Amino acid sequence: MTCYLSLGSNLGDREKHIDNACRMIAAQCGSVVARSGNHYSEPWGYRSEHTYLNICIRIETTLTPIELLDVTQQIERELGRTQKNVYADRIIDIDLLFCIAGDGAPVTCRSERLTLPHPLMTQRDFVMVPLHEIADGQTIETYIQNHTQ
Ligand code: AMP
Repeated sequence: MTCYLSLGSNLGDREKHIDNACRMIAAQCGSVVARSGNHYSEPWGYRSEHTYLNICIRIETTLTPIELLDVTQQIERELGRTQKNVYADRIIDIDLLFCIAGDGAPVTCRSERLTLPHPLMTQRDFVMVPLHEIADGQTIETYIQNHTQ
């Protein structure tokens, strides 16, 4: 399965947290086959003096989507993230954006813990700008159209 992830950090050494997260994802989830450049943005949805560093990555994994969520949430905890409030500063945030099965079909999920494709991704420039660096517009359209709010 191919999966696109969004990573963000706005506390401490943001570049180091993002690099560490990428290394841990590569070790525990599967190969990181593409990584966008670094993008800096103001907090979305709340006020803070701490600017975010955001990137997107594309991975190849044999994990199921919920296993991928389990592992990325464990990585968030290992990197020191303590709270899960959406609108708060954080050392690291890892979101699953959308996934594509081996046969090319979109992978969708609507459970209490996981929604795929990510319902808010198209509303967020800090996701869409780096995402366009690692996925062409046609790919993004194909996999998110009719599946996001
Ligand atoms: P946050 O890390 O603050 O963006 O929010 C994480 C919460 O959103 C967790 O409780 C996850 O279970 C839930 N969630 C639902 N869909 C997704 C997704 N596509 N990627 C990451 N977390 C998700």
